[in-house]
Amino acid sequence: MATALCPGSFDPVTNGHLDIIERTARHFDHVVVAVIRNPQKSQSLFTLEERQEMLAEVTGHLANVRIDFFTGLLVDYAREQGAHAIVKGLRAVSDFDYELQMAQMNQRLSGIDTFFISTSPQYSFLSSSLVREVARFGGDVSSMVPAVVAARLAGRFDPGQSA
Ligand code: ADP
Repeated sequence: MATALCPGSFDPVTNGHLDIIERTARHFDHVVVAVIRNPQKSQSLFTLEERQEMLAEVTGHLANVRIDFFTGLLVDYAREQGAHAIVKGLRAVSDFDYELQMAQMNQRLSGIDTFFISTSPQYSFLSSSLVREVARFGGDVSSMVPAVVAARLAGRFDPGQSA
């Protein structure tokens, strides 16, 4: 039974992430979506728990996906989980250098391979940081994130609205 790991900060989860998770779930028996708990990233918009809650809500239709978090080295966590592969989304050439370096380092450290899934073209411009910026200034992100995430963003930036 092959298990894949989809790591990320998911601050918040976007339709681009969801597309990668859904496609990974078609190719592997089990998928663990692992949220990075990064103590230095104190400026993250949503807490670790909020990021996990949103992921759980938007992947509820995928029976072989579960949500977790990790600290420290990804490869240590991957080993703990018995993961056979790390799966990442590739948006543009700008992702490539860094992702290749990470994949090679993780391979060297643990022997675990990284698989890359190319983004669907309609999501290639999408990143959590851009979504946060657009939402912060009142822009419409409803086509970029699942509805529950859009509601939480609205609540965060306009406390008059419920999230
Ligand atoms: P972001 O760069 O948006 O903050 P994360 O650090 O949470 O995203 O990324 C987790 C994984 O999701 C990475 O492999 C990243 O390349 C991938 N990813 C993020 N946005 C997209 C997208 N729009 N299409 C495909 N993959 C994506």
